[in-house]
Amino acid sequence: MAKHKFKTEVSQLLNLIIHSLYSHKEIFLRELISNASDALDKLKYRTLTDDEFKQMKFDPRIEIFFDEDGQKTLTIKDNGIGMNSDDLDEQLGTIARSGTKNFLNQLTGDSKQDANLIGQFGVGFYSVFMVADKVEVLTRRAGEDTAWLWTSTGEENYTIKEAERPESGTTVTLHLNDEGTEYANRWQIEQLVKKYSDHIAFPIFLEYDQKSYEGEGEEKQEKYEHKREQVNKASALWKRPKSEITEDEYYEFYKTISHDNEDPLHYLHTKAEGTLQYTTLFFIPQKAPFDMYQADYEAGVKLYVSRVFITDDSKELMPTYLRFVRGIIDSDDLPLNVSREILQQNKIMNQIRSSSVKKLLSEFKQLSENNPEKYGKFIEQYNRPLKEGLYSDFTNRETLMELVRFKSTEAEGFTSLAEYKERMNEDQKAIYYITGEKEQTLRNSPLLEAYKKKGIEVLIMDDDIDEIVVPSIGTYQETELKSVNRSGSAEELKTEGDEAKEKELEPLLKKIKDILGDRVKDVVSSNRLSDSPSCIVADENDPTMQMQQMLKAMGQQDIPEMKPILEVNPDHSIVKRLQNSDDKDLLEDVSYLLLEQAMLVEGAELKTPADFVKRLNRILEKAV
Ligand code: ADP
Repeated sequence: MAKHKFKTEVSQLLNLIIHSLYSHKEIFLRELISNASDALDKLKYRTLTDDEFKQMKFDPRIEIFFDEDGQKTLTIKDNGIGMNSDDLDEQLGTIARSGTKNFLNQLTGDSKQDANLIGQFGVGFYSVFMVADKVEVLTRRAGEDTAWLWTSTGEENYTIKEAERPESGTTVTLHLNDEGTEYANRWQIEQLVKKYSDHIAFPIFLEYDQKSYEGEGEEKQEKYEHKREQVNKASALWKRPKSEITEDEYYEFYKTISHDNEDPLHYLHTKAEGTLQYTTLFFIPQKAPFDMYQADYEAGVKLYVSRVFITDDSKELMPTYLRFVRGIIDSDDLPLNVSREILQQNKIMNQIRSSSVKKLLSEFKQLSENNPEKYGKFIEQYNRPLKEGLYSDFTNRETLMELVRFKSTEAEGFTSLAEYKERMNEDQKAIYYITGEKEQTLRNSPLLEAYKKKGIEVLIMDDDIDEIVVPSIGTYQETELKSVNRSGSAEELKTEGDEAKEKELEPLLKKIKDILGDRVKDVVSSNRLSDSPSCIVADENDPTMQMQQMLKAMGQQDIPEMKPILEVNPDHSIVKRLQNSDDKDLLEDVSYLLLEQAMLVEGAELKTPADFVKRLNRILEKAV
């Protein structure tokens, strides 16, 4: 018998599960039945596609029995694909889910918050340790002769030894602890299966001994009769007519396929009956899946062909930006033995995918129109992936532009581009936006001063993806989007007399430019400032300063250093006085200060802060 240690994450997680998910301990049954159903799905697929298994007599079923009086055990048995000892090590000895470490780092130690997170993460098999102090898994992989017995008390270790099992499949036996004894009970089980697993597509049988009495008085004798009854409907939920499915049934189905403990935010069930016949059932989780921003995120959509499960890890079923969608695609037109390579190029699959995407996006659109509150929740979680879509899905760009939301100087919360357009001044020429890291810095940016004064709304883009996505949009409904951080955007702020001022300022601008040398690309007169003496912008086609910082943070090494354009406010008193002064030292200090203070407000780092402070103090000395 081999003794194994759990991977550290498992031990850590086991502890957490037991302590935080405690009030939902009954979900262990849903998790076990869902695993059994997955195992049956996998074997069924093999019997239909794999010559080695085609002869097999396959009568898929899940059986549940319990020992109420003696040992207090509960057993869940399936005749599915089963596991060999390597599988046991990989699947039950580690948490196979990607990003487990990341997830653990997010935990706070506050049991309420953590329970929420764990719900999102989905604990799967390990939830059994909430109700059992010892768990045995007797399993044999289909096509192999040796069976294995995995045993663990949910502490540090588990053991694996050879065993016997007449057919392939898995039997999980829970030795119930004090908290779990209530589950060795016929009524409890029946009720839980109905609640959590009614929609499971394979029959679930409950076996028990029914007690009755025979004879009278002294002669009276206990008699046990073995009973076996099917507890669930055993029909694929998504194939049933919509009108016959309750919201609760949809929700439970979602929880089974997603391992989420919360109800979904939204679902969408459609049947296509044109040239292609297929059914889709999609769910939007209340909270974005925790691994959404990891490269190795888990795909959320399962593919079935005529109710036969094909795969649940194909990232081809949905475009990457919709990776948060959970659910099912069931097609009658695909061949059963579609391989992953075929899926990628399959015409039918491509059609199903593109119309599913359209369906989903138009559902989101409707939600935004008919249920703003729900849409608000949706945007809180999924605005960013939608923006990714803007960048990657050209076909649906128009719709996506209607779906994304931005912060703004005029509207509270989030606003759409359409709403912005409606609020635009009659003669306003462009949709303006400012990009950067921090919302507060952006809202206070001197770059906004003149826009504010003229009552021009500016969209506040503090999501790092905005830098990349928004410039790629170009125009929305024939109106150009212009970055306030760039030189060309202030055209429309020009007023009469600006040109005369510019002329007048030219000699000073030239002096400043000579002093600053290659620190700046240019020094120009500004028409976007009112209270601040100066600001910096990027040249029309250069990456903005924020973009440069972001590229650096992403590990890009050789970004050419882009010099800013320094804009000087001709109306500011500092600038005016400087025009009339012939103090050379003062001019030099002030020139640098004009540049460096503008950089600071934009959240840039100064290369030599000590020089900045020295200059500042020299000026203060003169002033005090
Ligand atoms: P998940 O089901 O999300 O993968 P679990 O922790 O519930 O996470 O299960 C881990 C893995 O153990 C499963 O992915 C599967 O490979 C294996 N497993 C669990 N139960 C069974 C079973 N009854 N039959 C075959 N494999 C199983």
